[in-house]
Amino acid sequence: MVECVFCKIISGEIDSYKVHEGDLVVAFLDINPANDGHVLVVPRKHFESLEEMDEDSLRSMFLVVREIVSKIKRELNPDGINILLNQGEAAGQIVKHLHVHVIPRWEGDSVKISWTPRGKEKLEEIWRKIK
Ligand code: 5GP
Ligand code: ZN
Repeated sequence: MVECVFCKIISGEIDSYKVHEGDLVVAFLDINPANDGHVLVVPRKHFESLEEMDEDSLRSMFLVVREIVSKIKRELNPDGINILLNQGEAAGQIVKHLHVHVIPRWEGDSVKISWTPRGKEKLEEIWRKIK
C-alpha cells in the first residue's frame, strides 16, 4: 500500500507525533485534531475494514485505545472521550487504512458527533435481520 499515508507514517516515511509503537499497532496525534489530544490508533497492517482484521491486531488495537484513553484522562483531564471508527466513505472514512479516533471532549467544545433519532417503528424488522 505504497500510496497510503498511514502506511507511510508507520514506516517512518512521513513524520508524526507517535504516542504508542507496538508490534501490531501504532498511535499518533491526528494532524488536524478535533480537540487537543485527538489520537489515531492504527494497526500496522493495512486493513480497510474491521472484518478483514486478524484477531491479534483487533485485540491489540482496542487494548491500545484503552491505554490511550487512560493516558489522556490522566494528562489532559477531559470531561469525556469519544471513541470513533469511520468505516466506508459514507461513514466519513477518508483514509482507507482502518483507524480508531480517540477524541477528548470538554463541556461546551465545538466537536459535533450527532444524528437525528429515527423512531422505533422498524426495530423489530431490523432485529429479525441481524440477531
Ligand atoms: P477518517 O475521516 O478517515 O476517519 O480520518 C482520517 C484522519 O486522519 C483525519 O482526522 C485526518 O486529520 C487524519 N490525517 C490525515 N492525514 C494525516 C497525516 O498525514 N498525519 C496525521 N497525523 N493525521 C492525518
Ligand atoms: Zn495503509
